[in-house]
Parts: sequence; structure tokens; C-alpha cells
Amino acid sequence: MVFEALGAPLRAVELPVPLPGPGQLLLRIHSCGICRTDLHLLDGEVSIDAPPRVLGHQIIATVVGDQRRVGVPWLGWICGECRFCLSGRENLCPRARFTGRDIDGGMAQFTVADERFCFPIPDGFPDLQAAPLLCAGLIGYRSLRMCGEPERLGLYGFGAAAHILCQVARRQGREVYAVTRPGDDVTQEFALSLGATWAGGSDEPLPVELDAAIIFAPDGALVPVALAALAPGGVVVCGGIHMSEIPAFDYDLLWHERSLRSVANLTRADAEEFLALAPQIPVRTHVTSYPLESANEALDDLRHGRFTGAAVLSIE
Ligand SMILES: [Zn+2]
Ligand SMILES: [Zn+2]
Repeated sequence: MVFEALGAPLRAVELPVPLPGPGQLLLRIHSCGICRTDLHLLDGEVSIDAPPRVLGHQIIATVVGDQRRVGVPWLGWICGECRFCLSGRENLCPRARFTGRDIDGGMAQFTVADERFCFPIPDGFPDLQAAPLLCAGLIGYRSLRMCGEPERLGLYGFGAAAHILCQVARRQGREVYAVTRPGDDVTQEFALSLGATWAGGSDEPLPVELDAAIIFAPDGALVPVALAALAPGGVVVCGGIHMSEIPAFDYDLLWHERSLRSVANLTRADAEEFLALAPQIPVRTHVTSYPLESANEALDDLRHGRFTGAAVLSIE
């Protein structure tokens, strides 16, 4: 399923099986998760510099030749020699290349991937259930780490990432406050079923002050809302790659050592840590599956909030 131009749906095309270059593995793909970043790519909020491009950056596959099952995330290549790469911050490498944006991704039957970014997938996660771990889980977990040790954690936007993080945070003994679109009873019920302490709309007051909040919804208007919900010393983490404009707000919302930051991409250390942690929680992903050729329908359902949890393409 190929991205060709802004405003056009993905198109099903026949491509040759790619040939792995030096340091790359040929992968037979079993599933690929859909991510909100894919919508930002379709809409041009995050640019694809060299279309046509196969999208998809939550890949579960087996290595052709040795049958290892691996997962491939958003970060697909780094230079390995810049000052970011050399200081444990490869997620910020200025030459980084991203799966399903700069490199053909997982909405296909085969792909090639840099073996440095092919991670073993823990047993106990079938192909469909494993896919959301690769971005929703991994970058969500990086966002959670940026929160410090909150007793009370707010999650703004309760989609694929939040439904995984809620399980991790509960297991760590944290209270989880799930904030959804106003009136989204289905998602609020879903959050409560996963152990959230409270769930409500972004128009409702929270019952407590938060120690930290992670914003997954791409709505900049939530930034001052989340800051206003923080206790002194709290942090708001923006977990997505794109957000609409953030409205101006009074310094009072930041005063008392509150902070605001973003999270970008992931490191290999994040992947290793989270994929080891997921079976211990154990994380249970809630997945709606679509055949590969229904990728446009899956993306449209994500855009309109027609499922809870995560959407995953099932690939034969
Ligand atoms: Zn993603
Ligand atoms: Zn680098």
C-alpha cells in the first residue's frame, strides 16, 4: 500500500521483492500497526520527502532465511557517529531515517530493514497483538519515563499508546486519569476497564491535581488544559510528532516549577527495555484487524475514532 501524493489514498500496487543491502535483513511481514503519525504523513503535517513510499512503522515479521521473529519500529537508521548518536541520544540524530517515511515500511508483504533496528519479539504476543508495542508501546513508554515517578498520571487522548501505558502505569502502582474527547463514553469505559482510576472528557474538571500528564491527542489546545491540571512541580509531556498550534497562556500555568516538554522518536535502548517489560506487566493490547488492502479504511477509522485500542493490518 503506497503513498504517492498528498490528498490521495494509499494505492495497492505490485512491487518487486526488495533486495537487502549490506547490514539489512529481508523480512516477510505478518502484521503492521497503524499509527496517528501515518495520518500526519497522509495529511502533510509530517512530510515524505521522496514518494512513492510504503508506509507503516510497527512491523512484525520473520527474517527470510532463519525464521527469527522480529519487530521494526519508527527509527530505522542512524548515522552512529554524530554527537547525539555518541551520547545515547540516537533518537535525535539529525541524519536519522524513519521507517515508513524515509524507508519503505510495513504495509507490504516484504521489506528490508537495518538489522540494528530489528528487535526480537517476546513469545506470548501473537503477530497482531505484538504490532502496537512497536510505536504506541515504545514511544508511549519513553513518554512515561519523562514523567519521573508520578503518583497521579493523566493521559490526554486514550488511543493505542494510552491503552498500553495505562496497564504499565497501573502495574507500577500509579493512579491513571484518562481524559478523552467530551462525551466519549465508549473510550471512557474502555479506560476504566483497563484500571484507570477516573475517566472523563477534556471539558470536565479532574478530581485531583496531577503529578504528570502525557498528551497523545494532536490538539495543542490541550497543553494549557493539562498544565492547569498539574500540581506544583508537575510535568506535561507531549507524546506525538505533531500538534495543532498551542494557544498563548499565562505564566501562572508554568510557575511553581511545572514543566512542558516533547518526546521524539525512540532509542534502541528504549526498545530493548520496553520489549522486556511488556510480558512482565503483562501488557494486553486490544486490536482491531484489517486486511492489508483495507489500509485506507483502517486509517479512516483511526481518524474518526471508530475503534478503541489499536488498529493493525493482518498481512498474508
Ligand atoms: Zn507511530
Ligand atoms: Zn547520528
